[in-house]
Amino acid sequence: MLGWSINLFRIRGIQLSLHGSFLLLLAYVAWDGWSADGGAGLVWSVAFMLLLFTCVVLHELGHSFVARRFGVGVPRILLLPIGGMAEFDSIPRRPRSEILIALAGPAVNFVLVALLMIIVRFPQNWNPVQAAPSFAELGRNLVVLNLFMGTFNLVPVFPMDGGRVFRALLAIRLPYLRATFYAATLGKVLAVIGAFSMVYFLDNWLGAALFAFIFVAGEIEYRAVRRREREEAHWRSILVEFYGHPPGTPPPEPLVEL
Ligand code: ZN
Repeated sequence: MLGWSINLFRIRGIQLSLHGSFLLLLAYVAWDGWSADGGAGLVWSVAFMLLLFTCVVLHELGHSFVARRFGVGVPRILLLPIGGMAEFDSIPRRPRSEILIALAGPAVNFVLVALLMIIVRFPQNWNPVQAAPSFAELGRNLVVLNLFMGTFNLVPVFPMDGGRVFRALLAIRLPYLRATFYAATLGKVLAVIGAFSMVYFLDNWLGAALFAFIFVAGEIEYRAVRRREREEAHWRSILVEFYGHPPGTPPPEPLVEL
């Protein structure tokens, strides 16, 4: 579905894959480092990006291992230039499971921050833009990026982690599809505000593109949920015709009163 990707290795049965466009990002980062500071710049830039994406993988593994505890299979984690994506073979429909699975990713980032802070020190008047590359600087940047990754993912923009938590909270009271609709709608409004703020205040078109991607991803996932709900309703109605009601479940509400 997402074009060609390269399989790297398996972590406890989960295939780790790189999307092709990831190599373009790597090439860009290498070139950017090279043009700033030659060979040393190239090594630091690439090392930093690989460490950053190691944190992304750990974040996705957080989701994946908790998902497995709730019986959801995770065949693959795909790395894209904008981040990672753990692919689940089913969607956890119990709000409690979904909340715990969604929170597990950002929790990994905050644990990483806590662990890094044991060895990383921030000098007064620290300026990350002017700092020369060093191991200490690499550590400081990782702290900041993990803090950002954990916090940004908790913003309730569906289908990011915070949006999933919001959907699950709504689904405690509302039908699943309607909960998804409200979460996706709030997500889209926030994504539009995010995209405009990126351009208007920060002149950051890459950030705006990221919000545009989140907007589209929210709509795609909402439509997938809607399609699945309709299919399930269809099969339920067939089962009702054949069996009276599906085995092992209470009789459903009649759809049409005759
Ligand atoms: Zn996540």
